[in-house]
This record gives sequence, C-alpha cells and structure tokens, in this order.
Amino acid sequence: MSQTLILPPDDAGIERAAALLRAGELVAFPTETVYGLGADALNAAAARSIFAAKERPADNPLIVHVAELAALTRFGITPAETPTLTSLAQSFWPGALTLVVPRGPAVPDVITAGRATVAVRVPDHPVARALLLRADVPIAAPSANRSGRPSPTLAEHVFLDLNGRIPLILDGGPARVGIESTVLDLTASPPLVLRRGGVTIAELTRALGRVRALDSSTLEAGERDAAARRSPGLRHRHYAPRAAVILTSEEDATARALARAGLGARVGLMIREGAPGLARARAYAAESGRLALRVMPRELTGYASELFASLRALDGEEVTAIVVGAVPAEGLGASILDRLRRAADAGAD
Ligand code: AMP
Ligand code: MG
Repeated sequence: MSQTLILPPDDAGIERAAALLRAGELVAFPTETVYGLGADALNAAAARSIFAAKERPADNPLIVHVAELAALTRFGITPAETPTLTSLAQSFWPGALTLVVPRGPAVPDVITAGRATVAVRVPDHPVARALLLRADVPIAAPSANRSGRPSPTLAEHVFLDLNGRIPLILDGGPARVGIESTVLDLTASPPLVLRRGGVTIAELTRALGRVRALDSSTLEAGERDAAARRSPGLRHRHYAPRAAVILTSEEDATARALARAGLGARVGLMIREGAPGLARARAYAAESGRLALRVMPRELTGYASELFASLRALDGEEVTAIVVGAVPAEGLGASILDRLRRAADAGAD
C-alpha cells in the first residue's frame, strides 16, 4: 500500500473515512482515550486485517465501538438481558468504559478471538461519533499502534507506526484522556476489572456497590489464574518504547537517572512538576547532553493525557533507558501505574 493519507475530520474527511470502512478498509480515528484502528465490525475479513496491520496476536480480542447502546441489537445482543449493561451505559456512556458481555450471534469470531463474550463501548469523541453515524456500522477498533508499542495519542504516532499499512488517518488532535478505556467484565460476579483505565475503580464501586480488579492483591492465587484467562490482552507485551523503562519512586528517580548518565549513557527522565529532585535534574540536563528530561503535570488527568506521547518523545531522543518516577496509586494514578509497570516489564521478554 502507498503512503497513508492524513485528513482533517471535516465533512469530506468523515465521508471518505466512512466510505473506506463500508468498503472493508481500515481507518485510524481519534477517540477520547487513544487513537483507534477501525474496521467494520460486521465484516470478518476487514476485522482480520486489523490484526495484520498492527501485528497483533490473534488471541487478543477487539473492542467494538457503537454510537449508542441500542446499536448492539445489530449483533443480536439484547441489552435488557444484562441488566448491569443498561445501568452502566446510562452512567458512563459515552465514555472510557468498555463492557464485556455475552456475545451476540452476529459477532464475527475474529473479533472475540473465539470467546463467548464481546467487549463494547460508546466513545465520547465528536469525530468517533460522527464516523460511527456516517458509516452506519459498528466499528471494531483496538489502539492504532504497532502491537507492543505505546498507544497513539496523536495522529503522528499512528503515522509513525502504521504508515503504508492503512489508507487513512483522521487527525483530531491530541486524545484527551490519553490512556485506554477501563475494561469491565460483566459476565463475572461481582464484575471484574480486567484493565484499569480512564474510569476509576472508585467510580465503578459507587455505581455497582462492588467490583473486583484483576490486578488487586485481594485476589487469591487460584482466583487470579482463572481471572487472568478472562483477559487475554494481559499476556502480551505492552506499551513499550524501544528504550528500557525503569520505574522507581519519585524520590529516587533523579538519582537513578543521574547515576546512569554519569556512566556515560544517554538517559531519559520522566518526573512530575514538584518532584523532589527536579531542580537537580534541570541543572544537570542544562549542563550535560546526557539527560533528556520530561517534566510531567503533577495532576494526574494531565499526566495521563501526556503519558504515551512522553514515552514516545523520550524514545525519539535516542536514550538507552527511561527512568520514570512513580505516581500515587489512587484513582487514575492506578491506571497510569499499570501502564508504567507494563512498559517497564516489557523489556524482560
Ligand atoms: P485495545 O483495543 O488495544 O485497547 O485492546 C483491547 C483490550 O480489551 C485488550 O486488553 C483485550 O484483551 C480486551 N478485550 C477485548 N475483548 C475482550 C473480551 N471478550 N474479553 C476480555 N477482554 C477483552
Ligand atoms: Mg492496545
């Protein structure tokens, strides 16, 4: 395929994207979480080509995006049969919450990776919404990155990962939330958070009374294995820049980075505004070419929205390692830490 086209999401851009989707082609588009790589979810061949373009393992199922809850009937899913689906949709859709529900008969196997469940979401982004309405098909869309790389939060990230592999990217500017949706499995009792994301556990607990999280220390080892089988995505390498990611406490981050830089390596450092070693890091970065410093917003919604772009930017600085100061594990911080831990683990396999 020739060079990928990038278009603004004006009327002509949306029309072109919708026509491509209806013709079984792939289109990358902005959502409020990260950019998605979309295909007509009712077209198995189109959905299959997502896996080829991303080099995504075939056992990792796709999230289906719809314009509204009622659109699930096109898959033979009756929302009323899963009562929590209806109530959560009312509270959280459109938004960064993906719900795993029993699959309908019309969902292609390639989307669910052969599972008895399907993951669905209504995105909260005007471009995603316009595209869903204009194409008039449900859109299967994982993140629009090369598998294993940090998710894309800018059209440029999609282009760098997928140029020549897809015909079109709609450029809607930076993704607001910046990390992926929370994935909640409604076929478990109580519902099980398979992936932390834009909606926090506290928000879900307020709505449902009780939820459990797959990564929680309260799960017994046996339960954890059973639960992990529900979340195929967890087995795969994720969020990894090319450089090794070293996750450490906010207090230790500067010292760790400077120690490595002192040995002659070029090192990246990601710490928040107000972190204890920030002044020292700034001074070192100004006098030595060996430290690439990325100062992150202290406030966690701002941090999340810059997270993946910062990892990619530091990678572009040709550093051998990226030292990251941890954020507090509460609220959105827990979702951010999940991504940072997995970026740090990724070097190991
Ligand atoms: P991505 O779209 O790249 O954010 O990846 C989708 C995420 O949703 C992955 O972590 C998948 O494993 C998860 N997912 C999708 N469908 C299902 C399903 N039926 N059951 C459990 N997890 C799912
Ligand atoms: Mg992804």
